[in-house]
Amino acid sequence: MPLHIETPLIESRRLGLASQRSVWLKLEALQPPGSFKIRGIGAACEEHQRAGARRLLSSSGGNAGLAVAYAGRQLSLPVTVVVPQSTSPRARELLRQEGAEVIVHGPSWQEANSLALSLLAAGDAFIHPFDDPLLWQGHATLVDEIARSRLLPDAIVLAVGGGGLLAGVIEGLRRNGLDDIPVIAVETAGADSLHRSLRAGRIVALAEISSVATSLGAKRVCEQAFTCSLAHPVDSVVVSDAAALNACERFLDDHRLLVEPACGATLALAYERSPALTGHSRVLFIVCGGATASLADIRAWSRRLRRTGGEPRRQTDLP
Ligand SMILES: *Cc1c(COP(=O)(O)O)cnc(C)c1O
Repeated sequence: MPLHIETPLIESRRLGLASQRSVWLKLEALQPPGSFKIRGIGAACEEHQRAGARRLLSSSGGNAGLAVAYAGRQLSLPVTVVVPQSTSPRARELLRQEGAEVIVHGPSWQEANSLALSLLAAGDAFIHPFDDPLLWQGHATLVDEIARSRLLPDAIVLAVGGGGLLAGVIEGLRRNGLDDIPVIAVETAGADSLHRSLRAGRIVALAEISSVATSLGAKRVCEQAFTCSLAHPVDSVVVSDAAALNACERFLDDHRLLVEPACGATLALAYERSPALTGHSRVLFIVCGGATASLADIRAWSRRLRRTGGEPRRQTDLP
């Protein structure tokens, strides 16, 4: 039994009017742990359990860790998540509420991840947040649902962090014979590892992440996301943190759903009537969701951006 739910696919009159086209939303924000990640991570955790795993390990203080914690509770497998000191109290609390053991270690994700890997013992499965074929297969179920709905969009808009969602959606389009539907891949400035890689013609690692959209903050995208983007029609777009935050607030008003800036980045294309949408009359947005930011966080980031005139904050911590 899959651990994710089949999510609603609805038309958004509000975003449609804002962007002057027909806009459809795939509401992954409604997944029980708050984001699409449970699709791939749920599938991976089930597969590891079938193969005999007795504990699940993660080093993500974000939505990937939350999805592993949720999956573990559903599968009655213990979960350990090692997170860096910079992980917000809210994220730690959400992990603990899912019953996970939370170990706080090191200033940044690199140290937390090293400790997690060193804890791996017989019977443990380590769940990567984006670079794993099991994850891509699971994320692809999102496109299976779209294909069954008879709604064929002219383009699909999604967010890119490490590129697991992108790889999964392209896999889903391929396995449903929809290879000709282009993907508009959105990142925020300061977390734009795919955009820079496509411009350079090779995978480029960012020196640091300087965007509030921490869920997009992989310093480099996975190989699969990069090669998929060359094989499939992918348009790579970068938006500002301010545009992503503004889209979060407007989307909350329009659809009564609070999403992270990582997701606001995609919605900003509609609200800002982005030229990237030109020529696409029916656009489907993957509302990837995210549970780690509160409304107070989003408003505080917006205030800080206004105060500093858009100067991005520095942060080292990821994913
Ligand atoms: C993980 C995540 C992303 C990015 O997904 P990748 O597979 O890392 O590209 C985007 N939005 C949210 C809310 C996420 O949790």
